[in-house]
Amino acid sequence: MQLASAALKAGRIPGERRCVPAGSSQLVHCGVAGMTKSTTPCVFCGKSGFLSAEHVVPKWVRKGPQVREPVREFSGTTYVGAAEALAIVFHEVCANCNTGWMGDLEMAARPVLEPLLLGAAPGTSRILDPDQQAILATWAVKTSLLLTLGKFRGQDHGWIPASTLQWLYQHHESRMPPPGARAWMGGFNTSDVPASAQAACLYDASGEPVAQCVTFTVGCVLFQVFTTGQEDADLSPDIEAWLAPKAPYTSALLQIAPSSSPLRWPPEAVFGVEDREALAGRLRQGLAPRP
Ligand SMILES: [Zn+2]
Repeated sequence: MQLASAALKAGRIPGERRCVPAGSSQLVHCGVAGMTKSTTPCVFCGKSGFLSAEHVVPKWVRKGPQVREPVREFSGTTYVGAAEALAIVFHEVCANCNTGWMGDLEMAARPVLEPLLLGAAPGTSRILDPDQQAILATWAVKTSLLLTLGKFRGQDHGWIPASTLQWLYQHHESRMPPPGARAWMGGFNTSDVPASAQAACLYDASGEPVAQCVTFTVGCVLFQVFTTGQEDADLSPDIEAWLAPKAPYTSALLQIAPSSSPLRWPPEAVFGVEDREALAGRLRQGLAPRP
């Protein structure tokens, strides 16, 4: 892989030039319902001030498929436990971002994603046009990175490309996934696991984190999201070939970022729990473990 950039450091928020370890927020309750004054900058816009509680996976996503069972969580290939129903509240998003562009993104994603969460009736299908795919992919990138920050930061696989979070803020009106992001959707059999999240950081030969691959499921929908920092967003043909789903995933994964063609949902094949485990590991095949 040639994704390395000397500028990338685990946990660094570009522009701040410092590391942000888990639990570093300096919060001061100021009596405003739902908001807290903080010296910690918003992970998107970089401004400090009033932070708000962002539900990483919004309630409407969890409500449709009735996600109440414990959620299986993995860091890399290591099972790290079961958590409470993806009800993750993240405190490093400012009130302006949370109620502004992020709220708008939720409103745009909801009518597309919500019907898919419960699964398609046998023999039925629908077409996802490129605009709908772009909204879903943007939502999936945002959600995957906040899931990683909220659940896995400080662990070996908890790195995220912070410049890509900033890109989402700076280009939020485009409703397009960031450069360098690749996102796929699949159908998922919910009979065993109602939701799951897995973060898998990829390292270069010198041990620097260069990309994050998050696989998460909610209800009958599975997302796999690959992101790099914006300085590494121009992917080589070799990287593209490596990312492309191979058999047996070609009939089960729909690429929604980048995509310019309508896609039929659901895909021909649906993932079960064991398939999901293998899928989450597909992008690590041939890669050296963390030095
Ligand atoms: Zn903000």
